[in-house]
Amino acid sequence: MFELLDQYQVNELHVRDDAASGLKAFIAIHNTQRGPALGGCRFITYASEAQATQDVISLARGMSYKAALANVPQGGGKAVIMKPQGDYDRVKLFSEFGRFVDSLNGRYITAIDSGTSAAEMDIIKQVTPHVTSTSDAGNPSIFTAKGVLAGIKAAVKHRLQRDDLIDLRIAIQGVGNVGSALGKLLYEAGAKVIIADINQSNINKALKKFAAETVSPEEIHTLPCAVFAPCGLSNVINDTSIHQLGCMIVAGSANVQLIRPDLGQQLHNKGILYAPDYVINSGGLIYASLTHHGQSDQDVSTRIAQIHQTLSHIFIESERQQLATSEIADNMARDILHLVKVEAA
Ligand code: NAD
Repeated sequence: MFELLDQYQVNELHVRDDAASGLKAFIAIHNTQRGPALGGCRFITYASEAQATQDVISLARGMSYKAALANVPQGGGKAVIMKPQGDYDRVKLFSEFGRFVDSLNGRYITAIDSGTSAAEMDIIKQVTPHVTSTSDAGNPSIFTAKGVLAGIKAAVKHRLQRDDLIDLRIAIQGVGNVGSALGKLLYEAGAKVIIADINQSNINKALKKFAAETVSPEEIHTLPCAVFAPCGLSNVINDTSIHQLGCMIVAGSANVQLIRPDLGQQLHNKGILYAPDYVINSGGLIYASLTHHGQSDQDVSTRIAQIHQTLSHIFIESERQQLATSEIADNMARDILHLVKVEAA
């Protein structure tokens, strides 16, 4: 465990195991030097505690790096709740999670992520003020999708020298909160959107609203297309999938898309342009942080649009230094946070 914490330079890992509510949760705080750690709460099924802690620790670092490159006054943290196998009382479980968040006295602020929605944030709000993306605050997913759209445009401009997305084939893996909002924006921009999901009802909604075609979840990353947009879960680019990619660009919202850092260099060597996950998916964090600090919708839009410039800069530096885009982004984030590089993290 400590090896993992050292590897990711995560300072704290908090655990709550509450038999009465069935809550088994972890909160990881990576860094608070720029402000309180802000990061979503995942509520999904994990095969093991080891898998859940790996997830929360790697995601917490991603949030610090994300906040640094998005230039918002937050540190990085994340929570995961291991979804109970049997029946559970949602209100009891999320109230207990809220008390867990509250016990950290504002050093961690929670938000929605895979498996949670504004409804759960509203339950948490009853017991702690350290929560965003409640029904009142609004769902950040559309802002994440807007940022991903800005990032896809930057990547298409850099890799294909095009200013528009008309008739480009874009494959979205996962059409949940972000993937469906992104699909609609891409469709409106003239792209041909192909989708895959493990949830049939999400597929049906996407086909009605924006998707031209659907393929199986096993196939989506192999499709010949301009952009593959991972908008499902983590570790999509791994030792198997990297050899099966049919795209020129990987640019989507999913957190921790590379199973290991060296996959970034492998993508670079294959000539596939990768938009580092925590840079392209920072729209939701920008929205949550700026609204938490009382800034206007216009400020939020302006800052989200800057994801285009940040990514363009990363792509240019990647070419100039012949280094993976993921490595360039990590170096920029570490410089901002005054962190030294830890090998094999
Ligand atoms: P979500 O749970 O609403 O959607 C995820 C979708 O992916 C679901 O429809 C699910 O059925 C599908 N899916 C899961 N496994 C799949 C697979 N193997 N193949 C195809 N589809 C699969 O989650 P979300 O809020 O849309 O977030 C998506 C990703 O973006 C996550 O990695 C999340 O951490 C990241 N992210 C989300 C936000 C946000 O604002 N919601 C912000 C930043 C990053």
